[in-house]
Amino acid sequence: ATTPVRRYTITLLPGDGIGPEVITVAKNVLQLAGSLEGFEFGFKEMPVGGAALDLTGVPLPEETLLAAKQSDAILLGAIGGYKWDTNEKHLKPETGLLQLREALKVFANLRPASVLPQLVDASTLKKEVAEGVDLMVVRELTGGIYFGKPRGFSINENGEEIGFNTEVYATYEIDRIARIAFETARKRRGKLCSVDKANVLEASMLWRKRVTTIASEYPDVELTHMYVDNAAMQLVRNPKQFDTIVTNNIFGDILSDEASMITGSIGMLPSASLGELGPGLFEPIHGSAPDIAGQDKANPLATILSAAMLLKYGLGEEKAARRIETAVLDTLNRGFRTGDIYSEGNKLVGCQEIGQEVVKSIDPKV
Ligand code: ATP
Ligand code: MG
Repeated sequence: ATTPVRRYTITLLPGDGIGPEVITVAKNVLQLAGSLEGFEFGFKEMPVGGAALDLTGVPLPEETLLAAKQSDAILLGAIGGYKWDTNEKHLKPETGLLQLREALKVFANLRPASVLPQLVDASTLKKEVAEGVDLMVVRELTGGIYFGKPRGFSINENGEEIGFNTEVYATYEIDRIARIAFETARKRRGKLCSVDKANVLEASMLWRKRVTTIASEYPDVELTHMYVDNAAMQLVRNPKQFDTIVTNNIFGDILSDEASMITGSIGMLPSASLGELGPGLFEPIHGSAPDIAGQDKANPLATILSAAMLLKYGLGEEKAARRIETAVLDTLNRGFRTGDIYSEGNKLVGCQEIGQEVVKSIDPKV
């Protein structure tokens, strides 16, 4: 008997600006890494964002959403651009992305921030502090103060206008993000730091209690707790102490941006958004970069590394993921750089060419 070939359906959403350029490159890399591990991809490319607006009048066409929901994972480029700048929500490309996240119910956002030895000079921190940083922020994405009710504007007892929001977390919301965080830590170095403000906020008190309870399911992971103000400080003081960080929506928003600046290179940073059942959404953290779109200047490594996260966290294909990560490091070791990460003594190349070099690093015969 022969083992059946593993086959995965991937929805590609190139989007706008540099999106199509980086997606083309990442697709080739993904295909090669998969074939070397003995599995196949069926790719389906669909419009989203400004591209979809031009084509269909809406930023997330029904066909696109359907294809996305029916696939095993989704790889997205970037969305938006000057061309579609408007205040009308339904005509904004970015609305398409928000609708997609909502429809897929992706409640966990994973953002790694590593300082690669080859790019340590790009960091905003001193070399001794930046060297060897390799952390992951797991942010709760669909709850907390950004969604909690009541919210709005009102008038207080002095007749003054007030704005108000509510931080709400239910047990199930904390439990499921905690489980993703423990699983993530387990795939990394086995250390999880839960960040909250449990000395002041009730939602954080419940957060800490639930994370501590869930920890009993993961005796192999070492759990610590930290207040968010201290965490913000520790991230720039000694980021090496962190492996995996789990935190709520608003703290994660802030801390993941802070962590990304430690690495100093927006063109290198991938992300994953995971739901409970359906497919995960994988995308670079950078935007559509309209200033360099169509010029073959974009750094595709963030998207290539997002494809590696797709393999690892989306499909459980860790060996194929490692092939891609290793190839990216090898390409950097061989001195290839796009403009955003260029430094003297290296070879300045474009989006296509650095993609080709990653392909060669994976399989020199190609
Ligand atoms: P968005 O609101 O969509 O996140 P943004 O305005 O925050 O977009 P980006 O589109 O991410 O910003 O671009 C910020 C700067 O970084 C731009 O100068 C852009 O050219 C540069 N940049 C972004 N991504 C890349 C990349 N992959 N390679 C090279 N430069 C990039
Ligand atoms: Mg931005």
